[in-house]
Amino acid sequence: MPKAATKSVSASKPQPYLEVRLTAVRAALGEHKIDALLLTHPGDLAYLSDFSGEDSVGVLTQDSFTLVTDFRYTEQAAIECPWLGVKLREGKMSEALCEVLRSLKAKRVGFESGFTTYATVHTLIAALDEAATKAREKFRPAFVPLDNVMVGLRKIKDAHEIAILRQSVKVAEAAFTTLKSLIRPGQTENHLAGQLVFELRSRGASDSSFPVIIAAGANSSLPHYRPQNVKVANNSPLLIDWGALYNGYCSDLTRTLAVGKASAKFKEIYGIVLEAQLAALDFLRPGVTTFDADAVARDHITQAGYGEQFGHSLGHGIGRDIHEQPSLRKTGTSEPLEAGMVVTVEPGIYLPGVGGVRIEDDVLITETGCEILSSLSKKLKDNTI
Ligand code: ZN
Ligand code: ZN
Repeated sequence: MPKAATKSVSASKPQPYLEVRLTAVRAALGEHKIDALLLTHPGDLAYLSDFSGEDSVGVLTQDSFTLVTDFRYTEQAAIECPWLGVKLREGKMSEALCEVLRSLKAKRVGFESGFTTYATVHTLIAALDEAATKAREKFRPAFVPLDNVMVGLRKIKDAHEIAILRQSVKVAEAAFTTLKSLIRPGQTENHLAGQLVFELRSRGASDSSFPVIIAAGANSSLPHYRPQNVKVANNSPLLIDWGALYNGYCSDLTRTLAVGKASAKFKEIYGIVLEAQLAALDFLRPGVTTFDADAVARDHITQAGYGEQFGHSLGHGIGRDIHEQPSLRKTGTSEPLEAGMVVTVEPGIYLPGVGGVRIEDDVLITETGCEILSSLSKKLKDNTI
């Protein structure tokens, strides 16, 4: 899709939507008394800069933003974020970061504890120690783990992100609709997986948002199955879990198809899963907790006698990463849903050796309730081929 015409933006200034995000992160850094934030997670870095490369680290302070990267990404950075300061790394990342932090005189360095590895922090501390010893200085910054600064901001999507997520869902749905028309018994899961990725990419996706799941027959009882050279058989289920990575954003959908005749057992669990999903979708609105959202679907499945066969959480946030916060689940920390969150709703029932059913949609929490971003039919008759 061509982008809407935008006013030309000065090379020295970030896009307005990035300015808003940068202001929000800097306010959070102020609250935590952080002088410099290390951005080691590609999704975090892209969220704040639109830089889509890898092996690079951002260093954000109240008045500067530096990308530490190497030759492979300098031209890309100049195209994607010409306003960003670039520190070209020729040796180790830890040495380049050490130089940047020393020149900033950052006393408290924050890092996202869920994404920055122990090795990254450990080698950086060692490099800083060594540099300080060499220079006969006492400069030793404190490293502060932050578990919710970037995660907390990214779980509420802004208008720019929501528009891209809508497109990501659209591309995923169009790819699926075409794939569905091409499915024939005798094709392998691998063949269909390749075809689906082709349909996604030919519609502008840069990839699938995760390795697509095509699970034929009894394989559909494995929630995170990987496609193999197993043939689609007539009169059996076919579970397809897929999504587009479009303009950096992930969609994530599942439909379970009946190839040929559906068995009585399949019809029974399909009906229960669909009712559980519709009940959860009906319930989602700001203020509802993630525990309670999960419970609505889980209670329905449990009352129908299949609680033990629904062993994963109800859903998860999506965005630049395929799994983001919030998590709609019964364990961990419960939190209220807020307008702007985009989550999946994906109950399932899995019967080992027989097969499974999962139905997944992508949902935007709105001020008054929720909007289902995906629109593919969930009726069994529409999912029978
Ligand atoms: Zn999925
Ligand atoms: Zn999912």
